[in-house]
Amino acid sequence: MNLAVLGATGSIGASTLDVMAGHPDRYRVFALTAHASADALLELCRVHRPRYAVLSGVEANPALGRKFREVHVELLFGAAALEQVVADAACDAVMAGIVGAAGLASTLAAARAGKRVLLANKEALVMAGPLVMRVARDSGAQLLPVDSEHNAVFQCLSDVKAVRRIVLTASGGPFRALPLERLDAVTPEQACAHPNWVMGRKISVDSATMMNKGLEVIEARWLFDLAPERIEVLIHPQSIVHSMVEYVDGSVIAQLSNPDMRVPIAHALAYPQRIASGARPLDLAALQDLSFERPDHQRFPCLPLAYAALRAGGTAPAALNAANEVAVQAFLAGRLPFGAIARVIEGTLDSMAVTQAETLPEILETDSLARRKAGERIQMARAA
Ligand code: NAD
Ligand code: MG
Repeated sequence: MNLAVLGATGSIGASTLDVMAGHPDRYRVFALTAHASADALLELCRVHRPRYAVLSGVEANPALGRKFREVHVELLFGAAALEQVVADAACDAVMAGIVGAAGLASTLAAARAGKRVLLANKEALVMAGPLVMRVARDSGAQLLPVDSEHNAVFQCLSDVKAVRRIVLTASGGPFRALPLERLDAVTPEQACAHPNWVMGRKISVDSATMMNKGLEVIEARWLFDLAPERIEVLIHPQSIVHSMVEYVDGSVIAQLSNPDMRVPIAHALAYPQRIASGARPLDLAALQDLSFERPDHQRFPCLPLAYAALRAGGTAPAALNAANEVAVQAFLAGRLPFGAIARVIEGTLDSMAVTQAETLPEILETDSLARRKAGERIQMARAA
């Protein structure tokens, strides 16, 4: 199988290449992409020898192109090249591992081209769930969830009509037990020091606010076609149970493993078969405890905001996602206190009318409007 790994220089990209390298007889790297980190991408090309490399955030640069040609890789520039490589007839599967709204167009292009899409880029479904699902259905593309919770649900799902609810688990992040009055003083480094997972900085902050779980509720709504009231969230600090499906007969099926993204990635790569992932086997007897608790909405206001956006429908989830990206970026840059992230998102959503979101232009227009409004709110908060 020939795979394009979008976001190859990121955390998901590294885990994907690691699993693939363990099975050289099954998988070939067709393309590797990064936004701007040319050196890191060149290094990956030396090791994995793809046909194409893409620097989506860099203008055409012949000198750089020559460096890649020395390792027999054709380097392409600009965001349109992402859509070109995923639609290539020689590409069988696509790891959608770009972070944020920037991953939407290429994920959609892979779905439109009828590829097997390994979906890590949850923001694509948050922004454009109905559109992505419709495009995939029409083209026959296979969307396989890589997000550990959705991959777990996918593994536990048999009779969809008999599902009472699904339970998405969340670790609660690094601030689960921090006194509330200390939340505004936390630093980006503390927010990115996740207790159980090593991930990119944006999703790490999302885990600390629990917006990550909110985005995942929206992702699950479209992936599994479940009404919001059938999607529950529980905090499970050990991150061993990755999610559960409860059926009408009272049975609850769960998927367990050590917290290692190579497990869901290997599952999505090989589905319906199974392959070794490299993850450490789970030693149940060594675990002290598996505990579950309901999330506190006062500590994690982003979670109810995401449910509200999902219920509002239309453009609301795209606006939520955009405002969140802008607020998280400002927090990471030291321009916004942690506790203000939720307030920026809420204020942005309150100031925007909800309209239909059936086409990509409608969704992208909402995305840029929400970014502008969130940016203004951050400016206002700094001036105050
Ligand atoms: P990361 O920050 O580690 O890597 C992001 C990758 O995307 C990099 O290769 C970067 O070059 C590329 N990129 C960044 N901005 C881009 C842009 N504007 N255009 C094109 N490419 C761009 O992120 P990550 O943690 O690997 O997360 C990737 C996606 O997977 C996110 O949507 C995240 O929510 C999802 N996800 C990640 C994990 C995890 O464990 N890291 C788990 C579940 C889901
Ligand atoms: Mg997840």
